[in-house]
Amino acid sequence: MKKRSRDSLLLSLLAALLVLGALGVVAARTALGKPAPAVPAPEAPTPSPTPHVHVFDADSFRCTLCGESCAHDAGFDEAHRCLACGYLCPHETHDPLTAACPLCGKQFNHHFGMDGVCDVCGSSAVLYTARLPERYYADSAHRGRCLRETLTLPDSLQLDIAVYLPWDYDPEGRYNLLIMMHGDGGSCDDWTDVLERTERGDVCLRTVYDAVVEEHLCDPFLVVGIDNRYMQNSFYGEKLIEETLLPYLASHYATYMADGSIESIRDAREHIAIGGLSRGSIYTYDVAMARCLDVAANFCCFSNGYSVNILRFLRAYAQEGLGFVSYIATVGLQDEPVYVRAHRYDYGVLCSSVDTLRDGDNARLIEIDEGHNFLTWTASMYDALLLMF
Ligand SMILES: [Zn+2]
Ligand SMILES: [Zn+2]
Ligand SMILES: [Zn+2]
Ligand SMILES: [Zn+2]
Repeated sequence: MKKRSRDSLLLSLLAALLVLGALGVVAARTALGKPAPAVPAPEAPTPSPTPHVHVFDADSFRCTLCGESCAHDAGFDEAHRCLACGYLCPHETHDPLTAACPLCGKQFNHHFGMDGVCDVCGSSAVLYTARLPERYYADSAHRGRCLRETLTLPDSLQLDIAVYLPWDYDPEGRYNLLIMMHGDGGSCDDWTDVLERTERGDVCLRTVYDAVVEEHLCDPFLVVGIDNRYMQNSFYGEKLIEETLLPYLASHYATYMADGSIESIRDAREHIAIGGLSRGSIYTYDVAMARCLDVAANFCCFSNGYSVNILRFLRAYAQEGLGFVSYIATVGLQDEPVYVRAHRYDYGVLCSSVDTLRDGDNARLIEIDEGHNFLTWTASMYDALLLMF
């Protein structure tokens, strides 16, 4: 009796141990959260047990010794070919955060356009209707160059211009061109590196451009600030822009203008913008929009509206088939209420009267919660750069 009960005790102990063991296996698997795969990976060639340097086939990009596909992690050459297997990177998109090709790392620029959505990666432009974040007023890793030049007009008067060149400016490249006009009491350098006093410290536009370049937020661009004083006469202003300034820029800088001929300038009009702030905004309407639509198709007007009836000029251009590519108007909401209302009104009239201007499509009114000052104008310029180019 005693022996039998000892045996059955041993048997039940053994059974209990078996059950515990099985439970342990289940528990371990559950803890890993990874049940054994039911189906093995499809036809993955078994790696050769011998360690070797892969020899990749130029067509399949698989190792001829072990069949493994190249991971393209050895880097890419200048021509964007994988250094290990020779695969040519197709750059199918770019990363929304870094604007770089996720496979080979080649850097691209976002191309947001007037709808604010990058037509390559689908990310949305971050636009500002208030003061720009501090990093746009601080130095970026690379700093563009600001030049000052004096051009001689046909009647020997002098025209001062200030030019911003991005740090990686390539004389053989092609750059969108922004011609910008300053306000009363300002100078052409207001568009490059003059420090402008604001209640939030001294700011300048150069740091905004540098950050936009650094963050690859739009296609390459040049900014040319011009001396305003001759714009009081709109006919003289038109001739200055078309016959002196643009031909000079065409022959001295890398723009979309093949040369300084009027034909080449007109062919490049979609890559030329004219804009201004305050008084310069009035001149943008009265001189540039009214008279230079044949050489520029993009306009950005910060704070002020037009002072003359420009619609009759725009109707004449429409008959020639000349329309707008983009138009951006901004108002500083803390500006004089009459200026705010006037510019909103002018914007509305233009959009409802000109066939090639469509509010919310290629025309935008951006209201910025700042005053008649460089906090409004730096934010305006940032938004305009991202949307126009
Ligand atoms: Zn191999
Ligand atoms: Zn490869
Ligand atoms: Zn790539
Ligand atoms: Zn993008």
